[in-house]
Amino acid sequence: MNDSYEFSIEYAKKMDSDDPLSSFREQFFIPNGSTYLNGNSLGLLSKDAASSLLRVLDEWKQLGVQGWTNEENPWFFQAEKLGEKIAPLVGAKPEEVVATGTTTVNLHSLVSTFYQPNEERTKILADELNFPTDIYALQSQVKLKNLDPAKYLKLIKSDDGKTLDEAKIKRSITKDIALVILPSVLFRSGQLLDIEGITKNAHSKGVLIGWDCSHSVGVVPHKFDKWDVDFAFWCSYKYLNAGPGASAFIYVNEKHFDKEAALTGWFGYVKEKQFEMNLQFEQAKSAGGWQISSPSILGSAALEGSLDLILRAGIENIRDKSLKLTSYLLYLVDNLIAEEPYSFIIGTPRMPNQRGGHIALHHEDAKSIHEELLEYNIIHDFRPPNVLRFTPVALHTTFEEIWTLVNVLKEIIDKRD
Ligand SMILES: *Cc1c(COP(=O)(O)O)cnc(C)c1O
Repeated sequence: MNDSYEFSIEYAKKMDSDDPLSSFREQFFIPNGSTYLNGNSLGLLSKDAASSLLRVLDEWKQLGVQGWTNEENPWFFQAEKLGEKIAPLVGAKPEEVVATGTTTVNLHSLVSTFYQPNEERTKILADELNFPTDIYALQSQVKLKNLDPAKYLKLIKSDDGKTLDEAKIKRSITKDIALVILPSVLFRSGQLLDIEGITKNAHSKGVLIGWDCSHSVGVVPHKFDKWDVDFAFWCSYKYLNAGPGASAFIYVNEKHFDKEAALTGWFGYVKEKQFEMNLQFEQAKSAGGWQISSPSILGSAALEGSLDLILRAGIENIRDKSLKLTSYLLYLVDNLIAEEPYSFIIGTPRMPNQRGGHIALHHEDAKSIHEELLEYNIIHDFRPPNVLRFTPVALHTTFEEIWTLVNVLKEIIDKRD
């Protein structure tokens, strides 16, 4: 990776012309000619996603109930087919992944299955920097076992308020821990944890571990099988560009297919026999066994096209370009707006292998800078009290946009003097 760049827009444009993924930009609908750096919050609609969504609408229009069984594209198998499609992005076998439910609900379903406190191991280990919904859900999971979250949900503390120390995570996996739940990428700082190393450490102590990969699937390659992760879950409206509230995913390692799902429903039934309507539940021996309800066919229709686009680009190429964009951004920040009077502080780890897809900048005036950036039509987000998050999206963000962003940040401060 480059560690020096020239400071000019021509140089940024040259990087764009050398970019093997540059042609993907025209596949996206970019709102209002904006500089859209918010793909970690809501990914944009692509032509592929729009067309798979419209096709499913048309199936509903033309086929009615027969859409469930239509020959070409039976809705009955859509959740499993999407699991099969995404499997290479996460390094899983097709039957280990299924599109179902939503992130927090999937967390509930998986944790209620895998959190089984016993005499010796009673606690869930999580961290204080995780996305709050995960913590709320874990608190209620502990309560469902008639235990007190203040005692039985152990949260790893951050030393700097931004990142987690991996050695400390490992040290926190003690003999009273029954289950570990961690995010692959921290939503504020963008720190990417060593999923493989931490999973190995948990297993060496006989502890199960599940990962929330909402902030990494679609931008970072995963190898769940190789890393021997027990289970994982993630949303598909961020880096997977499948639309607001789109169906989420679960991964269950095949070694756990015999475990009884704690929250059952008819879509978790052995597929071939689901319509026999027996009252005795027989769980599918696949991740599909953790489905509960009818899949949201419309809620996952855009996923098909959006996944096709990502597969066409290749997840390794996406990761490569994402890191180039974030490295370039870090370099410009360091050299143009780190010193006084600009005083932007980088809140994301600098090592590429410790970064997800976004960059966090800290500034004491973040809130007003955020508002001014919106006037420049630069879409990003603000996380109180002082964090601005920017997500260059490999499939549509240009190096020129990164150049513009940093120059606008500089101008916003210059104008004040
Ligand atoms: C985005 C995100 C969620 C979202 O949860 P929903 O149930 O989809 O609203 C959960 N966890 C993490 C870590 C996230 O980044």
